[in-house]
Amino acid sequence: MTTAAATDPSALLAGLPARQGFGDATLIRLAPGSIDLGGGNPATDLLPIDVYQDAFGAVTGSTEFSALLKYTPAAGLPSLREAIARREGVAPERILITNGGAHGLALAVLGTLDPGDVIVVDDPVYPLFLRVLDLIGVSVVPVPVAADGIDTDDLERRLSEGLRPKALFTVPTFQNPSGVTLSTAREAALVALAERYGFTIIADDPYRAIAFPGTAVPDRAAFRRSDRVLAVNTFSKTLGPGLRLGWIVLPEGAAEGYTRLRNRLDGQTSGVLQAVVQRMLDDDRLDPSIVAAGAAYAGKARALTDALREEFGDAVQIPNPAGGFFAWPRFTGDVDFAALFEAAQDRGVTYQRGEWFAAQGEGFAGFARLSFSEVSIADLREGVARLGQAWRSLGGRG
Ligand code: PMP
Repeated sequence: MTTAAATDPSALLAGLPARQGFGDATLIRLAPGSIDLGGGNPATDLLPIDVYQDAFGAVTGSTEFSALLKYTPAAGLPSLREAIARREGVAPERILITNGGAHGLALAVLGTLDPGDVIVVDDPVYPLFLRVLDLIGVSVVPVPVAADGIDTDDLERRLSEGLRPKALFTVPTFQNPSGVTLSTAREAALVALAERYGFTIIADDPYRAIAFPGTAVPDRAAFRRSDRVLAVNTFSKTLGPGLRLGWIVLPEGAAEGYTRLRNRLDGQTSGVLQAVVQRMLDDDRLDPSIVAAGAAYAGKARALTDALREEFGDAVQIPNPAGGFFAWPRFTGDVDFAALFEAAQDRGVTYQRGEWFAAQGEGFAGFARLSFSEVSIADLREGVARLGQAWRSLGGRG
């Protein structure tokens, strides 16, 4: 028997495809004892819990607390906008507080694109950005991510041949999934192309603070100076995704329009949480804790890549991550990678398949996104050993 839907969906709602591949929970089998190399959470034991506790106590105990329980400005608490602006090196008027990165991406997409427009995206891409694009219905043009970021030479060639995108999406630092960082030279080239051809860059940068010791992260001065860039960010990787707090650095003069847009969706981000985060940003313990987390993630990344090289030898190519949460190995050999994924899950390890990050069609078979952020070093080694067993069960050689 079919039951009628309680309400008739809009064409938008009816047309939203179910998640496929990345983010499709039905594909992931996590039996008790399984090791999950698929996630994007920070390690909770590396989050600054003591800084949180003190900030919550200070906020709830302060005389301003009752005012924070009322409506607060849609663009964000002035004190938090100022604290973020100081860190970004821009005027506070350019900061819009959001309910996390996904919300910022939705605002950027709704504020930039019209149905039928063309958007250039990283290839491989952060797949959930493509799902945000489902809100509008646009054409996606993949541009490869090279070793130093989205390939601006390839983009320039296509622009000179007539490609006219309205926007471009990239994850500039420790890219999800590849771990690649856009060089300062490519950043400048990208901005020059955006200005010349008149498109908006949506730069989604949640991993920039997760730099491993010795890694210098580009300061993104060219992005900040350009009025062609929306820089979307989130505290999800440094303070935890359960917080749901992020921000956008907008071009000068754009905040009013984007605030009007966000007013149609949710009105404001929690004033209470904004006040908590503002106190955390002003706490001297916060930055050292994020630096220490970066060092711990570096140790995990090293354990994972060492184990992969030991287990797979010549059958794996794997760049060393310099930050972020992911390794992006490429396995070579005459192996059915769909079967490998199932065989790995049978043996108690799961991950994200490379194909799920293709910006369009098929691609990246043989790649895997392996997340080390939340997994202990012992489990990373055991996970790789299980992957190796699965590999050999299918005839792969290492
Ligand atoms: N962009 C990228 C590249 C991400 O990896 C993530 C989190 N997986 C997000 C955006 C979304 O962040 P948030 O949890 O703050 O919505």
